[in-house]
Amino acid sequence: MDLRDLKVISDGYCFAKTFTITDFTNYKTKTNDINKEIKRFFKAIETANKDLEGEDDAYFTIQKLMLNDPTLKNNVINLIETKNLTAEAAITAAIKDFNNNLLNANSRYLQERIYDVEDMCKRLLNILVDNKYSFPSTDFILVVDELMPSILLENIKHIKGIIAKKAGYLSHGAILARTLEIPFITTNLKIENNIPLIIDTRCKRLILNPTTDEINSTIAKTSENILVKPHDGYLLLANVFGNEEISKVKKYQFDGIGLYRTEFVFMHNNRPLTYDEQYRIYSKAVLTLGPKPFCFRTFDIGDDKQIPYLKTHKKGFLNYVNNKEMFETQIKAFINANIYGQMKIMFPMIETKEEFNYLKSWVLKIKKELGNTSSLEIGMMLETKEALEHIYDFTEADFFSIGTNDLSMQLYHIDREKAKKIPNKLIVDLQNKLIDVVNFCNKTNKGLSMCGELAAMPEACNMFLKIGLKNFSVSPSAFKNLNETVNNYINKGEC
Ligand code: PEP
Ligand code: MG
Repeated sequence: MDLRDLKVISDGYCFAKTFTITDFTNYKTKTNDINKEIKRFFKAIETANKDLEGEDDAYFTIQKLMLNDPTLKNNVINLIETKNLTAEAAITAAIKDFNNNLLNANSRYLQERIYDVEDMCKRLLNILVDNKYSFPSTDFILVVDELMPSILLENIKHIKGIIAKKAGYLSHGAILARTLEIPFITTNLKIENNIPLIIDTRCKRLILNPTTDEINSTIAKTSENILVKPHDGYLLLANVFGNEEISKVKKYQFDGIGLYRTEFVFMHNNRPLTYDEQYRIYSKAVLTLGPKPFCFRTFDIGDDKQIPYLKTHKKGFLNYVNNKEMFETQIKAFINANIYGQMKIMFPMIETKEEFNYLKSWVLKIKKELGNTSSLEIGMMLETKEALEHIYDFTEADFFSIGTNDLSMQLYHIDREKAKKIPNKLIVDLQNKLIDVVNFCNKTNKGLSMCGELAAMPEACNMFLKIGLKNFSVSPSAFKNLNETVNNYINKGEC
């Protein structure tokens, strides 16, 4: 098998039969029975709405809104009536127009909705086309042109691996696969349906129709224990989206949590969470992990992360000032959940020292009002160009966590959803830019870690180790790589 183009999006091994989703282009395009096609279209909308009932993930909420968008509906009906198109052809044409408009929109948020619209189109076509698929109820390896996060979320229990023709390394589907520890590769190879297959990202290979020995050795690898060697002076931390992943953080013996993306706690609901609800979530997380470093990030919303019931701006400071009550409620819940006094709180997308100082004083005022005297570090994500260029201004920050995902977008215009790889020369450039940050933190005794996806890429991580970075925070599936990279670095005696 020619696998020269194989790219690893999420590491791991798995064995299962493939489930290949082919294109939905094989349908009749013209009709003589306009009424029948309009009825089929409405029926498909009704079925899709039913399928989405009870799904309260934000991803599906957006799909539901689009599915019932009156303009889109009218356009489809109009195409059926005036051009004698079938429901399938009319939907495809209407969605193409819709997406062209989004593409021309002067808003990154709207442009990114293209993925949601395409996902919704595939959902409707799947309902309409005769040879529609239904997902297996046993384990399978998903083979697709492009991964739609909804397919992953709907089949979380049975998807053991993913093979796609294209995928961005920083896309939400990719981050989700890494967090869920599902091996994910891209290749142009044509892979048939229902074929027993092994994905082994470590050796960069796919084995079609594997032998029993090969299957047994893959199964053994999936349950193999990771040898965690002492790495004194270095912290291997975890990035999590919610409490569900904390068991993995314990399983891999991470040193703590370097990034808890709390916005996902809000996205799973259709109203703001109350103080009690948030307190229960955060204190359970802290108690489950035990007395280890734990860093909560205040809700990071805007741009690509929307909360349907909130008015958001671009990501950053203004979202807190404009959602004062939500910010204060979250901070109170954090502070009261600081059971072991090991908590850190950080703010995302900070641009200026004024923004940081304002938020820090706000948190300290709330802490004082609560009469809370536990130790609490207050820091920030270092993920904007402005903050990086003015690092010496941030004297009040207790620590920084480098967010390479947003930083790569801001510095090098890397598109999170599409970029397959961050070119090496850009990593070298970032390495140079971060030398000042390491020096500043060493001199002022401030904590410093990296929590963007570059920390999970061994070659990149190695380059950051070389300039003195010692703390990294990665998705649970990347622990093995990080552990090996740091151990190799320590053993080579370069530090
Ligand atoms: C980052 O930008 O690197 C980061 C870790 O934050 P997120 O991916 O949640 O934007
Ligand atoms: Mg970010």
